[in-house]
Amino acid sequence: MGISITIASGKGGVGKTMLSSNLGIALSQFGKDVTILDADIEMANLELHLGLEGMKVALHDVLAGEADISQAVYNGPEGIKVIPAGISLEGLRKADPEILEEVLGKLLKDTDILIIDAPAGLGRNVVTALAAGQELIIVANPEISSMSDALKTKIVAAKLGSHILGTVLNRVGYDKTDLTVQEVQLILETKILATIPEDPEVRRSAAFGSPVIVRTPNSPAAIAVKKLAADLIGKKYIPPKPRKESFMKRLVNGLFGGI
Ligand code: ADP
Ligand code: MG
Repeated sequence: MGISITIASGKGGVGKTMLSSNLGIALSQFGKDVTILDADIEMANLELHLGLEGMKVALHDVLAGEADISQAVYNGPEGIKVIPAGISLEGLRKADPEILEEVLGKLLKDTDILIIDAPAGLGRNVVTALAAGQELIIVANPEISSMSDALKTKIVAAKLGSHILGTVLNRVGYDKTDLTVQEVQLILETKILATIPEDPEVRRSAAFGSPVIVRTPNSPAAIAVKKLAADLIGKKYIPPKPRKESFMKRLVNGLFGGI
């Protein structure tokens, strides 16, 4: 029997889908059987992050009794499995909750870790995604606006009975006004599971439809996610040493501020 982890944030655009896809792949690379459920209907971009397309049958169809769950599971990169949510989760709520529970139970029988990529906000769709996961990881950026939304998410999740693993602080180092890890810990009162730096490779990878952990596994964000994956499952991971920049590159950067 596997475990389900919801990745939520409150605020949109903080890196939930980035984390869901890369963490899923990292866990798969460590030998775990991973399934990612895209529950972010309004901005269902998991498939873009993973470079997938043409996923026609979704969880919604399964709950409507029109398809079997096996038809809604697609192969993603590095051995992960992906399930699109389909139409709104409101539709899922209308479906018999026992069926949803049954389907989640079935999925957990076949996979070690089910990652649920939650939508932003605190609407019904989010509550459903929070309730569906046994464990919760909150994603936040080190800025005040991200904190209040993360706090609300934490409170709702706790009420729903999910176990809060902690917070992943993403896009660290983007701005001088960033909150520190200690400040975030004080505000949210959760463990800080990882800090993922601001890394231009993340955006570039998304543009190529290939997760950063696959495309540039030695980039700072990829290394941070891999370390988080290792910590979550109690594996040892020794990150590669940062590459030294060549003399020419340092010279060019110094003279022209980079190319
Ligand atoms: P969410 O799912 O929370 O709405 P996304 O995962 O789609 O957020 O990320 C929002 C944007 O931020 C994307 O363009 C993504 O490439 C970028 N991003 C996420 N994490 C980082 C990072 N560590 N460094 C740089 N850009 C990032
Ligand atoms: Mg998203």
